[in-house]
Amino acid sequence: MRLLLTNDDGIHAPGLGVLARVAAKLGDVRVVAPDTERSGVAHAITLYKPLRLREVLPGWLACDGTPTDCIYLALHHLDLRPDVVLSGVNPGPNLGHDVLYSGTVAGALEGAHWKVPSLAISHCASSEERMAELEPLLDEMLPMLLRVARSHAGAVNVNLPPLDRGPWRGIRATCMGHRLYANEVIARSDPRGRAYYWIGGLNVTMPDIEGSDCNAVRDGYVSVTPLGDDLTRHSKLGRVAELLTEP
Ligand code: MN
Repeated sequence: MRLLLTNDDGIHAPGLGVLARVAAKLGDVRVVAPDTERSGVAHAITLYKPLRLREVLPGWLACDGTPTDCIYLALHHLDLRPDVVLSGVNPGPNLGHDVLYSGTVAGALEGAHWKVPSLAISHCASSEERMAELEPLLDEMLPMLLRVARSHAGAVNVNLPPLDRGPWRGIRATCMGHRLYANEVIARSDPRGRAYYWIGGLNVTMPDIEGSDCNAVRDGYVSVTPLGDDLTRHSKLGRVAELLTEP
């Protein structure tokens, strides 16, 4: 099996190292990943500046672009022809509408867009400290997740519960839930007295939604969500068509 790996945390991120070690037991691993942190770039593609690739280890290429750029170059320039794309392991959750901001998930969606079964994998912990402990757990789980990705023939979003709350209770097929941030913007001054702003904050709430990815992780289960790339709200199409014909 040929496995193509990327992430949005940069080619030196510990989560990518864990994923590469696990993937190497299943086949031939090639890595094309951003050269630095690109978390939150979603599905951005770089069109108005050139891209460069640099080999940092045999089979490991760093790209000065986004996860989407990495997969695009791997498939259409490097001609790697992978059987599967793996993106991650992201330190931090990609639950609910995080999926729309996530570079990790976008790496998998880009693979799926070109008909390669793809997995995005995130560890719902706030630090990378315990990333190495995921290795034996992923060893056990990855073949099953690959079967899911192949059968779905698309992108699958996997979220692993934090390890500090004890062993995982199992694994669940889920839908996207909601993850609500507290609209936090920090405003400060730089050393030259100019204002700057930092979006973020850790204050997040997750409404209780039966069957959702958020609920699964909250309850200690690994969450597995098959994703599509059609954002149309089909249930509203008829009503929109009606409104367009009203005088
Ligand atoms: Mn990230």
